[in-house]
Amino acid sequence: MKIDTLIVGQGLAGSVLAWHLSGRGQRLLVVDRDEANTSSKVAAGLVTPLAGARFNLPDGLETRLDCARAFYWKHEESSGGTFFHHRRIARLFQSEAERSAWKARLKSDGERYARFHEPLAIDAERFHAPHGGFEMKEGGWLDVPAFLEYTRQALLERAAYAIGQVKSADIILEDDGIRWKNVSASRVVFCEGWRGTQNRFFDWIPMNAALGDILDLEIPELEEEGRIISRGGWLIPQGGGRFRAGSNYRHQFTSEAPGESGKADVLEKLGRITPLTPRVVGHRAAVRPVIRRSQVFLGVHPAHRRVAFFNGLGSKGVLNAPWYAAQLAAHLLDGTPLPADADLANNHF
Ligand SMILES: Cc1cc2nc3c(=O)[nH]c(=O)nc-3n(C[C@H](O)[C@H](O)[C@H](O)COP(=O)(O)OP(=O)(O)OC[C@H]3O[C@@H](n4cnc5c(N)ncnc54)[C@H](O)[C@@H]3O)c2cc1C
Repeated sequence: MKIDTLIVGQGLAGSVLAWHLSGRGQRLLVVDRDEANTSSKVAAGLVTPLAGARFNLPDGLETRLDCARAFYWKHEESSGGTFFHHRRIARLFQSEAERSAWKARLKSDGERYARFHEPLAIDAERFHAPHGGFEMKEGGWLDVPAFLEYTRQALLERAAYAIGQVKSADIILEDDGIRWKNVSASRVVFCEGWRGTQNRFFDWIPMNAALGDILDLEIPELEEEGRIISRGGWLIPQGGGRFRAGSNYRHQFTSEAPGESGKADVLEKLGRITPLTPRVVGHRAAVRPVIRRSQVFLGVHPAHRRVAFFNGLGSKGVLNAPWYAAQLAAHLLDGTPLPADADLANNHF
């Protein structure tokens, strides 16, 4: 089998990259282990433009946000389904310090922030909001499993998908490409998620993976609430009084399975959002790929130009994947320079 690009892993990174490369006419094979609980399959899929306690707006955020929304909406249109749920986020301050940080942001950079907020109306009986908050615009959540399944079906239709494991030891480097079993390709791109730096080509990149838990809940008293609620943790309405709640970050873990301590972490966060008692109807956990401080890393191997890497999507994969995948596709096919802070070539770990 002769193709242009072998993509290893069909999580968010591999899926989005596959769309960008196939849009450029590339012949692909995407190979995935088809595990039940990957980061992408468990993720809440939130897009939160103003994240963190400091409400930082990183450089280029608007560009990446516009790229992500245009990307998911384009694919919704061609699939006839809904992946991206555009939702307001009620962002409740956790403390007076947070409220002051927000006010300082508006004072120093109000024009840039104007796009993202409106005044908040909140029911104090149902939510803890002693320090107030604001309503965040331009966010929402992606149904990541639905997007992955749509991508998988599209790849299957083109005979470009296979279930399996690509071991880096089995990749044979050739002058004009690589070979894996009976597949000859011009290049291979590893999009393996959190175990991606155990790969023989990229074992020099330090992964600081973080286990996270998500609960499925029933809270009938909040059936009418359509907004995502965020206060340290978050609560995402799924309709009919059902919600998803999360999440915690555990950098030290011995098992990837959901456990009682993970459940307790999420319920503790939920207790800071609402005084209401939920019924827990589901619990999943998975490991996020985190490199440095959730920084995306991508590019070609310094010594092997036919071997590439796309990883480190961290907790902002939905927002960041489309723009970074577009940069990687342009780099691989046209030689366009990558963003310097994300380019493997510029980073010495
Ligand atoms: C609890 C939790 C909540 C989250 N919430 C959010 C959120 O609200 N918003 C957000 O943007 N992000 C969130 N994330 C993070 C998000 O899931 C990640 O940023 C993103 O999904 C990572 O995608 P990935 O493709 O890099 O990795 P993965 O999803 O891990 O995908 C890697 C894929 O490659 C396959 N694979 C690996 N190695 C091989 C191999 N050698 N051969 C074949 N297949 C292989 C794996 O089986 C897997 O399918 C959350 C994550 C967790 C765990």
